[in-house]
Amino acid sequence: MTPGLLDDKGALMMAKNLTTRPPSWQPRLERVFVSRGATVLVAVLALIGPMFRSSTARADDPVKPWVEAQLPRLLSFYQELHQTPELSLQEQQTARRLAAKWREAGFEVTEGVGGHGIVGLLKNGEGKTLMLRCDLDGLPVTEQTGLKYASTATAAGEDGAATGVMHACGHDIHMTCSAGVAAFLSAHKDLWHGTVMLIGQPAEERGMGARAMLTAGLFDRFPKPDYAVALHCDSTIPTGRIGYRPGYALANVDSVDITVKGRGGHGAYPHTTIDPVVQAAHLILDLQTIVSREVKPTEPSVITVGSIHAGTKHNVIADQCKLQLTVRSYSDDVRAQLKAAIVRKAKAAAAAFGAPEPTIEFTEGTPAMFNDRELAERVAEVFCKRFGHEQIVSTDPSMGGEDFSEYGRRGVSSFMFWLGTIDAHRLAGYTRVGQAPPSLHSPLFYPDAEPTLRTGVQALAATALELLGTDKSEKGDKPEKRKAAP
Ligand SMILES: [Zn+2]
Ligand SMILES: [Zn+2]
Repeated sequence: MTPGLLDDKGALMMAKNLTTRPPSWQPRLERVFVSRGATVLVAVLALIGPMFRSSTARADDPVKPWVEAQLPRLLSFYQELHQTPELSLQEQQTARRLAAKWREAGFEVTEGVGGHGIVGLLKNGEGKTLMLRCDLDGLPVTEQTGLKYASTATAAGEDGAATGVMHACGHDIHMTCSAGVAAFLSAHKDLWHGTVMLIGQPAEERGMGARAMLTAGLFDRFPKPDYAVALHCDSTIPTGRIGYRPGYALANVDSVDITVKGRGGHGAYPHTTIDPVVQAAHLILDLQTIVSREVKPTEPSVITVGSIHAGTKHNVIADQCKLQLTVRSYSDDVRAQLKAAIVRKAKAAAAAFGAPEPTIEFTEGTPAMFNDRELAERVAEVFCKRFGHEQIVSTDPSMGGEDFSEYGRRGVSSFMFWLGTIDAHRLAGYTRVGQAPPSLHSPLFYPDAEPTLRTGVQALAATALELLGTDKSEKGDKPEKRKAAP
């Protein structure tokens, strides 16, 4: 938009055009109309404009028709994976299935990297290395979708008890997209050069798999990639759409176990005890002032006490109370600030009640996921060209976690984007009755597989061609400054 040339109404109209249509030819058309009134020219341009647009963006597109032709095979592999989910750390058969697909496509596959992790390499001359990650594990959820190909699998869960198992986080979609992009890149080696490194990561749901693969030498035994890209299903975004967020997108996830100590006794004689329940009650409220009073309001952070356990019966004062917290943040500074404040508050509560010092154990979970801004914008622009600007949406950052962040922490420029999974009509049905669609991890969650895979495989293939494409190799680390997508 050119400032000073448009009044407010004009600017508004222009803004509308930018958000609803590809802007490359439409504003130019309006300028011709306004400045010269050349009606004939406008009519001709209106006729040839869309043709021109489709011919530049799509006519020689090797990706879309290939994906379209492969969809039946991809869908069948998806259903096979969906029916055979395995829990975190038990993904043996899943890894074998995916490894077989990669091998079929000509990848050199190594199994057993950090548990059931797999690595597939396809070298195609000199150039950059692109890592595309998918995750292998299902969840201890008993599927209730009623789909023909619903999972009926069961397994022993973490506690040893039998549980239904389901791909309720869409990792079966992620794996199918990986198998699809493997076959595409292998069949189109003339369009790219460098190395494609596929990884099938175990135990994402327990936040352990990325670290396990890194500890097993992922970046030593195999090339350390220049870029790492992954997609994740999003149950709230319609199929055909992609969401993305440059910068921080997901949070540091830490767990804290606090044992508040007291002195037990009879409930009728509190003066002879130090009641850990009352102390814990004070502490819980005091913990809530860390985020509201100590952390800078513009820094996202969460402290949740998710579990509290003490005592055995009505009239017995316990001698300890156990609290379990989840703590979320984005920056390392805030992460450290929260940790220090929790320790201070817990000790202060004990001192206030004349109680022994509490024990406090921190367990570091996954680090915050930071999407490399240049990489995110570069890939998002490719998506805009391929799917249309209106299909690429900017998403809010979330306080959830994902261990894909671990690869970025090792200095690899990384980007995770969200793949829409719900058919627009199905979503509209939920909206009409004022309901949200089933979320990830719900026993009712299912992606509308065909359109989801159509977009997912194309998106990964387009990403690879952008980052490793034969005419893109020189852009390397210095992509030109690009405009943010709407
Ligand atoms: Zn999940
Ligand atoms: Zn997931």
